[in-house]
Amino acid sequence: MSKEYNPYDNVLRIVDEAAAILGYSDNDIESVKYPERELKVSVPVRMDDGSTRVFEGYRIQHSTSRGPAKGGIRFHPDVNPDEVRALAAWMTFKCAVVNIPYGGGKGGVVCDPSQLSEDEIRAVTRRFTAAIAPLIGPEQDIPAPDVGTSPKIMGWMMDTYSMLKGHCIHGVVTGKPVELGGALGRSSATGRGVMITVKNIFKKLHIPLENQPVAIQGMGNVGSTTAGLLYDEGMKIVAVSDVSGAIYCPGGLDIPDITAYLSDNANNLLKDYERDNVVHITNKALLELDVSLLVPAALENQINCENADRIKAKIIVEAANGPTTADADRILNQKKVAVVPDILANAGGVVVSYFEWVQNIQSVSWTEKIVNEKLKDIMDRSFEAVWDLAVQRKVPLRTGAYLIAVKRVVDAKTARAIWP
Ligand code: GLU
Repeated sequence: MSKEYNPYDNVLRIVDEAAAILGYSDNDIESVKYPERELKVSVPVRMDDGSTRVFEGYRIQHSTSRGPAKGGIRFHPDVNPDEVRALAAWMTFKCAVVNIPYGGGKGGVVCDPSQLSEDEIRAVTRRFTAAIAPLIGPEQDIPAPDVGTSPKIMGWMMDTYSMLKGHCIHGVVTGKPVELGGALGRSSATGRGVMITVKNIFKKLHIPLENQPVAIQGMGNVGSTTAGLLYDEGMKIVAVSDVSGAIYCPGGLDIPDITAYLSDNANNLLKDYERDNVVHITNKALLELDVSLLVPAALENQINCENADRIKAKIIVEAANGPTTADADRILNQKKVAVVPDILANAGGVVVSYFEWVQNIQSVSWTEKIVNEKLKDIMDRSFEAVWDLAVQRKVPLRTGAYLIAVKRVVDAKTARAIWP
């Protein structure tokens, strides 16, 4: 992997940049650069055909300085230690920028869920949960869904952990089914947070939302929720994509129809979606469309040195984690593209995870209206703080977000001091 595409190198670069602006010495910042704890596990599974397969899994805690580690579990064939490390570090800074009392962690299993049966996915989930059980718990490290995992999988994780401990422990994971203590509003929370962020940045730049063309890369949970909410706000979603490719309609796509088509059958892919005036383009072409807003809502490194020059969007709101490499970010800044960084833009998911955990440990439940109001409040205040600091320091929004986040993490570490 070249350095540009190593996501952990990209995290270190922005942390170094923020630390230099904050005037921190190497001593202040050194320990922030190393994950606190890394666990690699083997996950043996009896497959449906009777064979045994061993999957590779990870749980990495980047930081617990501000509170328990928090972050999702990814099931994807490309999961690897540097990716999980980066995803864990982004969680640390994400929780810090929105000021919720967590550190950051992430986990993953190298597998392709689209090639596994439900029984096999459940077996992977249960054995993986048992393998990482020594690290997780409501006061230590709280997993949640990420790419390739779902509320159903979180329900199995919660059940497995509870069975091992001998009693029901709701607060060990978030993003669970509502019947198991999942928060109302959690499944749409990341997309809702992205929508709130889009409204905030358009307002700051004095651009009305109505009819502004938007391209969204990825129609998983986050991409499809974002598409639906921005469509409801009157924006014109001209292109969306999934793993099979992208669809494009200059007059605007019918998002409710596309969402219904994709949810109708798990095997439905956009490459087979045929409607009048809708043409098929590549995922690569989607990123380079002449739009007001580009929302990358898929995986890391999508905007890189190879395509950053050709990006025509005026505004990018990062719904995915790490969609822009550090080199590409520099090019976008030169081109004066306004980029709202992942750690701020996609924080809605972990914010509502925090609400879920707070409800679980107190055995209370909040209405969806309360959840959504509290989410909006945190997203608005965090955006405002990042915007104000970025303007004051004359730096891009990503740097502004890291100035706030890195300071909060270093302040917590300093207050605790090095043990022993
Ligand atoms: N996987 C999500 C993220 O990257 C949510 C994490 C969580 O809720 O803990 O932010």
